[in-house]
Amino acid sequence: MSQENPEILILGGGYAGVSAAVHLKPLAASGAARVTLVNKYSSHYLTTILHHSAVWQPGYEAASVYLPELLGPQIGFLRGEVQAIDPDRKRVEVRTREGLKTLCYDVLVIALGWEPHFYSIPGLQEHALVLRDLSSAHLIHSRIQMAMAAYDANPNDHWCTHIVIGGGGFTGVELAGEIADWRPRLAKTFDLNPDDIQITVVEGAPTILSGFEPLLVEQATRILERKGVRLITRARIHCVEPHRVVLGDDRELQAGVILWAGGVRGHRLVEGGGFAVNAQGRAFVNEHLQARDYPDVYIVGDSALALDDRGRPLPPTAQIAVQEGHLAATNITRALEDRALLPFKPKRLGTFLSVGCQDALGVLNFTRYFQLRFYGWAARTLKNLIARRYLWSIGGPGLALGGRGRG
Ligand code: FAD
Repeated sequence: MSQENPEILILGGGYAGVSAAVHLKPLAASGAARVTLVNKYSSHYLTTILHHSAVWQPGYEAASVYLPELLGPQIGFLRGEVQAIDPDRKRVEVRTREGLKTLCYDVLVIALGWEPHFYSIPGLQEHALVLRDLSSAHLIHSRIQMAMAAYDANPNDHWCTHIVIGGGGFTGVELAGEIADWRPRLAKTFDLNPDDIQITVVEGAPTILSGFEPLLVEQATRILERKGVRLITRARIHCVEPHRVVLGDDRELQAGVILWAGGVRGHRLVEGGGFAVNAQGRAFVNEHLQARDYPDVYIVGDSALALDDRGRPLPPTAQIAVQEGHLAATNITRALEDRALLPFKPKRLGTFLSVGCQDALGVLNFTRYFQLRFYGWAARTLKNLIARRYLWSIGGPGLALGGRGRG
């Protein structure tokens, strides 16, 4: 596809979109293409530490990077919410503060990320909060505080201080650990006994962190139980009502705050644009990450269903999203130079999760067959290092070491 000065549009300023934009900077700087990134917010937030921000609000600023500064003069930035994608007419509708805009493109990168999957559970979407961006982190923080204040006013309503988290996967476990560590301070603020504040995780599988290494699952279970988090496994949420979670076996949990961390799906705008998607709304892409039937559209990150070298779907994670964004940028550049496109060869570097402020655990993959497990301080340090390495890769040492660009 060699083309005169093509218009490249990136939708979404998360891990995949930012990675694509940063790696398209040389192309844009050379004047060979115009590149614009559209994002709902003016900051790129680090979802992997959102659970920390939801609890410890001082961490809020550290969880985001101001996009115009990060992208620099080479990449255009438009703050707006994408409303529709029309791949046949190569157009995108964006709602901005100034009104509705129609953007045309020659090459499109869709990196709109994930949406919560509510699995049609009655009442779940209406009554549960989902940790998905900085605004929701704020909302969860204040809802928990409001619930504590409500208990103070109605001391007979013990359920006010009960926090129920649906889903014991990565996000649910990280969130539960963090809230458990917040409990003593929360109790002090609202003059409560820490034991008055209960945290319950409801998980459908036989264990939390289903699919993870058994040793890590065991360890995470032990840490959460030590922190006083109640784990209810093999239990499906049947329906949710205001302040009430009904389980499949008719058990009922009354709660002041209900959080949902039980599933994600691809962004609905992808399906709405007519791209072929699977049951989780993730778009089928070829080995170059191009959308089926639309070679001028790359779909990357959680909205895409990329496969590993054995043909298995890759999980929706930040590390995969970053690599996909990078490859999309590389392939766009190669296509403009009439060079062959490269296939996606993901590197699974490992998995790290925190369970509260001090505890963490994870696996680092040295090769496909050799892994090392880390716990406690070492895992915590490695998780922080991974976050800093990411910041370095998009913004250099200034950003990684806490300097400019952090909004
Ligand atoms: P995102 O990073 O979600 O980016 C999508 C972007 O699109 C966002 O900036 C959003 O604002 C924007 N957007 C959405 N809709 C619109 C619209 N209509 N118009 C304009 N812009 C829009 N993964 C890991 O690898 N390691 C971890 O430790 C880890 N921890 C996690 C902890 C939590 C609490 C959560 C929720 C997820 C975690 N994940 C982790 C998963 C990881 O965050 C996702 O896989 C990753 O964010 C996917 O990247 P993405 O670029 O596809 O989407």
